[in-house]
Amino acid sequence: MIPDSHVHTRFSFDSQASPEAVCRAAIARGMPEIALTDHVDMNLLDGGYGYFRPQKQWEALVNCRARLNGRVRVHIGLECGEPHLFRPDLSALLSAHPYDVVLGSIHWVGHRPVETADFFHGLEFGEGVALYLDELARLAEEADYDILAHPDIIRRAIFHRFGWAEVDWTPYEAPMRRVLRAVAERGKALEVNTSYRRRGMGPPGPSVQVLRWFREEGGRFVTLGSDAHRPEDIGADFGEALAMVRAAGFEAITVFRQRRPYEVRF
Ligand SMILES: [Zn+2]
Ligand SMILES: [Zn+2]
Repeated sequence: MIPDSHVHTRFSFDSQASPEAVCRAAIARGMPEIALTDHVDMNLLDGGYGYFRPQKQWEALVNCRARLNGRVRVHIGLECGEPHLFRPDLSALLSAHPYDVVLGSIHWVGHRPVETADFFHGLEFGEGVALYLDELARLAEEADYDILAHPDIIRRAIFHRFGWAEVDWTPYEAPMRRVLRAVAERGKALEVNTSYRRRGMGPPGPSVQVLRWFREEGGRFVTLGSDAHRPEDIGADFGEALAMVRAAGFEAITVFRQRRPYEVRF
């Protein structure tokens, strides 16, 4: 079973899951490694703003790791929203503990939330997508992160506003390639996020087409993330995601340990 590199626990504002329950779910699925990546939201607009307690998360997860030693490798991580906009604060946070992995995520573009129909308020489809990809490129190029998480998260807004479960990125190939090139050139990883499937919003993403562009741009590292907020969702739809990664020509999945990439062959 491939490691899940994107999982939330009760140290995230939107999860009640105990870290141990999450890790036991990983063990039950035969997963050798799991990354616990709680939300760090420095954006005032976000529901999670001010919630994260780094010292509490660190101590609890170190204890959890020690208790489960030998049964599953527990990696301690963070999911930071818009990390390119909060570089000094993130840098201070990261210097406090030896984290294993940092996910860089777009949850907001200015005052627009990427997960709801409101994102497109006053915007045509193409205008909204261009705005989103521009912000994503800035994150990819400038931020301190290991994995670019849910690079097609704008699908949630598209689903709610237009009702489409899939997006053809062909008209946006150039701005999407700008993002993928930055991830590839900086030696970062691209995440295939499976949460769309559980939300009834279509297949894991990004699509095979986007994953192929990533390879063509020199991308080497791909991670799988369930984005689970409950133990029962750990590793959900990884079979489907793995088939997509393989179809795009990749032969390994990456996992981060102490912020360094390791390849897990499949
Ligand atoms: Zn996210
Ligand atoms: Zn997440």
